[in-house]
Amino acid sequence: MAKLVRGFKDIIGAQAEILTELESSARKIFKLYGARELRIPTVELKELFVKSTGDSTDIVQKEMYAFEDGGGRTLALRPEGTPGAVRAYIENNFTQAAPVQQFFYIGNMFRAERPQAGRYREFEQIGAELLGNAAPAADAAAILMLADIMKEFGVRNYGVKINSLGCNDCRPAYRRDLINYLSSGKETLCEKCKDRLERNPLRVLDCKIDGPRFAAAAPAQKLCPACAEHFEEVQKLLRGKIDFEIDNSLVRGLDYYTRTVFEFRVGDAAQNAIAGGGRYDGLVKSMGGPDIPAVGWAMGAERAAAARAAAEPKKDFIVYVASMDKTCNEIAFNIMQALRGAGIAAQGGLFDKNIKAQMKQADKCGAAYAVIIGGDEFANNPAALKNLQPGEQKRIMQAALVETLKKI
Ligand code: ATP
Ligand code: MG
Repeated sequence: MAKLVRGFKDIIGAQAEILTELESSARKIFKLYGARELRIPTVELKELFVKSTGDSTDIVQKEMYAFEDGGGRTLALRPEGTPGAVRAYIENNFTQAAPVQQFFYIGNMFRAERPQAGRYREFEQIGAELLGNAAPAADAAAILMLADIMKEFGVRNYGVKINSLGCNDCRPAYRRDLINYLSSGKETLCEKCKDRLERNPLRVLDCKIDGPRFAAAAPAQKLCPACAEHFEEVQKLLRGKIDFEIDNSLVRGLDYYTRTVFEFRVGDAAQNAIAGGGRYDGLVKSMGGPDIPAVGWAMGAERAAAARAAAEPKKDFIVYVASMDKTCNEIAFNIMQALRGAGIAAQGGLFDKNIKAQMKQADKCGAAYAVIIGGDEFANNPAALKNLQPGEQKRIMQAALVETLKKI
């Protein structure tokens, strides 16, 4: 039998609808902030991700779907959106013509990680990149944009954590402090973290195994005056607008972050980060562009959808139209179309089946009401309107159906 590849998923019906709804919420908010859409390829040169996401990250070392194409190029399915977005920004000459840009993207990403709940090998990200603005106002706007999307979409039960990683001036000292601190427990580190300790100690705090153990007592970042002022200003702009918490152990997994980093999460489990992001002032330059600052984030669409579904399971209002016998099929069909025309979701039309089979189908599709045409009363022109939950049924004139259901 044909079989789905492990770690991938089919998204069907209501699950697809909730993602579409999230996308609409996001588009509405992006518009309010003046962000423009960026549609870029799913495939890039592998090199792009090695250089930008970073070759010390798990994403690049182990999770990338990389392959040779027929023309001797090594390509990769994108594991995240930022490298392609920045490539497009540079390549389309925005850096010279109009360096201040706000972009958003919606698209699927690919990571060959261990599949589990909330962790897939193909998943959807909605992301934003604010380029060309070094001011704390950009960091704050990026965070508030994300919060506004959550609000519009209806996810409320999340927490926001923020931190500052400093810059090239103040991060090295922090790095040294962190190596000293982590070295005291070196033997107890997982194999990966032993390796990370010297190369990228910040990443140890982001490790799913060792991170939580060491995070609590980790030395605080000692920010240089410019970074401290920037971080203070970001907080000032956020205060009173959203609830947030400063978490000095928040580091984020990617190599390119500087200064502000943030995460939105529901609960404490490892797969509960809905979105994350931060400032990446060095990335545009390191990818061959001029020295242009930027801040951005990416949201996991499936995780955001799951957070909302858990908070308020939504029931669709569907009316099922059934016909008792052949002579009423056309009228039943016309009523079904009239309901749709009036903006009421209608299903039915299974007229080659008997009424029992039709009512079974009404149940299966989760309809709230059934409209039954035919039988004794057909001569006088009424229809039976049946509430499928408590199951009570009443007769109603066909002409009054649409209005009655609209009121319900
Ligand atoms: P995590 O800590 O869960 O591994 P991450 O730090 O790797 O997340 P990012 O690279 O920051 O995640 O991506 C942003 C968001 O994309 C995450 O917050 C999460 O919601 C979502 N995401 C990341 N990896 C996956 C995945 N394999 N399946 C589904 N969603 C994912
Ligand atoms: Mg990850």
